[in-house]
Amino acid sequence: MSKFHTTVSRRDFMKGLGLAGAGLGAVAALAPAFRDMDELTASSAQFKHPWYVKEREYDNPTVEIDWNVFQRWDRTTKVLGSTLPLTATNSAHGALHPEIKQYIDLKTNGRDIDYMKEKFPTYKGPSLRDYSVANASSASDKLPSPNFVGATTGVTIPTPESRGLAKWNGTPEENLQTITNAFKFFGATRVRVMEITDKSRKLFYKNTTSGMPYNFKDVEAPEEIAKTEYVIPNKAKYLILYSCLEATDYVRQAPAPTYSGYCHGHKVQANVHYFLGSMGFMHIEAGGFTPASGVGSFAGATEHSRSAMVGTSYSHGNLFRWMGRVVTDMPLAPTRPIEAGIERFCVDCMTCAHGCPYESMPLGEKRWDHENPEEEKVKNYLPGYKGWRLYNFRCPRCKSCHGQCVFNGGDEALIHSIVRNTQAVTPLFNGFFADMHDIFGFGTRNPDEWWKHDVPTFQFDPTYLY
Ligand code: SF4
Ligand code: SF4
Repeated sequence: MSKFHTTVSRRDFMKGLGLAGAGLGAVAALAPAFRDMDELTASSAQFKHPWYVKEREYDNPTVEIDWNVFQRWDRTTKVLGSTLPLTATNSAHGALHPEIKQYIDLKTNGRDIDYMKEKFPTYKGPSLRDYSVANASSASDKLPSPNFVGATTGVTIPTPESRGLAKWNGTPEENLQTITNAFKFFGATRVRVMEITDKSRKLFYKNTTSGMPYNFKDVEAPEEIAKTEYVIPNKAKYLILYSCLEATDYVRQAPAPTYSGYCHGHKVQANVHYFLGSMGFMHIEAGGFTPASGVGSFAGATEHSRSAMVGTSYSHGNLFRWMGRVVTDMPLAPTRPIEAGIERFCVDCMTCAHGCPYESMPLGEKRWDHENPEEEKVKNYLPGYKGWRLYNFRCPRCKSCHGQCVFNGGDEALIHSIVRNTQAVTPLFNGFFADMHDIFGFGTRNPDEWWKHDVPTFQFDPTYLY
């Protein structure tokens, strides 16, 4: 790959760390588990995490949860996550607290461009080619979306019977491997499974913004009963999460608009629904009534982190732009929550928060309530977990926090492996790693520079594609 991202060498980095000359011997002193460079940089196979990632008990992610307080989200009263309306006037939240509606208008669009101009004095703002590539990247995102029961207008999914075949019959472990390989073939990056238990069921939203409930029932098939309810069969016991990448190279110049991650995810979504239906199983589209980062933490794709609006992956940082969710009755082996030290790293690292043009990210400690007095005043958050919460009233989804995470990898994967491995053993260097991230050029880029380097085919650095 080109040296567009950085010219820092492994030696420079180790020197900065105070380990040059001593090399891996010194690292080994910190971490007896480091035995050689192969192990240090071991990439994660699909179900084999690197040595420093621990698997936790089911329903017990690294974020602390008070199960007596944590309840299903009532969307008629709160504005959270991806359902944030762009303005108060187009809000579908009929019952929204009036003060919430008032706060929504506080956002000042365009501040992200000012931020970039300040950071890069030669940058004059988006040019015609910037607008063109950004908009063109989402031009194909016009496929009809699957509805609640997974049906897509214009698409007929053949049943096993229509092919004269029996429904697929595999063990839960075989099925997990099967969907993993199929979904990765379609373009997903990680495939994880959360079993729907009494606890994890609390992640499912209680209703739509207009108050239509999502109800679990002992029925044979999912159903949307017009203006009354969405019915999820209790026999559908698993929620599959599949992640799709943001344009790993282009996003480094965020804040700059591109929706290619959604465009790509939309294509994979169509493949996923077709595949599960064709294999003879339910495929309830759950992206609209489950939280991506919450499910990511429970299913072990990501950890809760300061970035708040996205979960953070030890291998892909904040670059999972599309986190598809689908409920199925296919028997599956659930995957466990993970602990890679990310939420601990975030305590000292505020890289993404300092790089937020809209001051929408928490800079303080993890807490049970909201750090922002405006949102705390009207209780505009999901209570019951101790963590970091996005300033929803201010964030216009500019994506700067996606491109800046210290856990992002890419063509500097070797250096980032050292960060990941070392932080898991000792927090001693966390501040250094966070500071060096920007100094060494891993953070935001001047958008004009993107046009001058050799970009990866189809938006992804190859080092992310494993
Ligand atoms: S939280 Fe992220 S997406 Fe929202 S304004 Fe800040 S940097 Fe942009
Ligand atoms: S940039 Fe730092 S604080 Fe933000 S999510 Fe990544 S590790 Fe955490």
